[in-house]
Amino acid sequence: MADDKLTSPYGLAGKRIWVAGHSGMVGSATVRRLASENCEILTVPHAKLDLRDQAGVGAWMKHEKPDVVVVAAATVGGIHANSTRPADFIYDNLAIETNIIHAAFQLGVEKLLFMGSACIYPREAEQPMVEEALLTGPLEPTNEWYAIAKIAGIKLCQAYRKQHGSDFISAQPNNLYGPNDNFDLQGGHVIPALMRKAHEAKLSGAPAYELWGSGTPKREFLHVDDLADALIHILKYYSGPVPLNIGTGEEVTIAELARTIADVVGFTGNLKFDTSKPDGSPRKLLDDTRMKKLGWRASISLRDGLAETYRWFLDHESERRGH
Ligand code: GDP
Repeated sequence: MADDKLTSPYGLAGKRIWVAGHSGMVGSATVRRLASENCEILTVPHAKLDLRDQAGVGAWMKHEKPDVVVVAAATVGGIHANSTRPADFIYDNLAIETNIIHAAFQLGVEKLLFMGSACIYPREAEQPMVEEALLTGPLEPTNEWYAIAKIAGIKLCQAYRKQHGSDFISAQPNNLYGPNDNFDLQGGHVIPALMRKAHEAKLSGAPAYELWGSGTPKREFLHVDDLADALIHILKYYSGPVPLNIGTGEEVTIAELARTIADVVGFTGNLKFDTSKPDGSPRKLLDDTRMKKLGWRASISLRDGLAETYRWFLDHESERRGH
């Protein structure tokens, strides 16, 4: 590992950096974070380029000539979306990553960073999960389609590094939240879904608000601005085949999370558990020793991050409703 830490950092100043997926939660945070790096940020709207189109991606990249690529584009969703749209999750993500990574190799891109996900690890992996746990056991079935695509992306980076010496790296954050998240109740992840439900329960004066499953699964949540900061750090200081875990080192149960969200939102009623809905993985905590050795750690507490996300939600709800 020590060998993979760059002693003279890879400088981003003056580079043309393409953030693929710039309008999503991760991509938009990456663009915000890159603003202070004195680089040229490249983006392309979804309406102009479908990243699943191999020829289109190759032609666009050939024309724009990025030096660096951050693959933050993906079809993503929560436990319900993942288990009901398996074809979208596996096909879209495989297509996006193969198109971008192969074109980056062909065009001699200097550095590429691929975003994995904590769900790449086996369901029964020992906790906290070390990077070596990858491919040591069966996946969590509710999101295996997405996980298989993400594992393939990591393997693509390793393969091009091994065969061609390409400086392609990967990282997997734990469960993300923050501005530009998807607050749709069916498609979104737990934090935006619970935030919307608590908010609506507060407005309607409901006695309780409902969460899915037993409330006992544990999750580690990372604010997307912390992730963006970590991504810039590893672009500068890391070059190696191991996909890096990015987390906070702290976990909460879903019931604790639901209570904290209620508190942040100002909803004073009770929690109701809909146990007909799946729990998913019982626990998902990442071992972040490698990132600490590289000199990075998260700095946004869950409570502060939730409060900031709720403010963003309120601003955008009022925009959506037209006042
Ligand atoms: P996961 O980490 O891949 O399971 O993704 P999610 O963020 O969708 O779910 C995390 C946990 O929160 C699971 O145990 C869900 O059952 C639980 N959960 C509780 N209420 C909700 C909800 O309203 N929406 C979602 N997506 N998950 C919920």
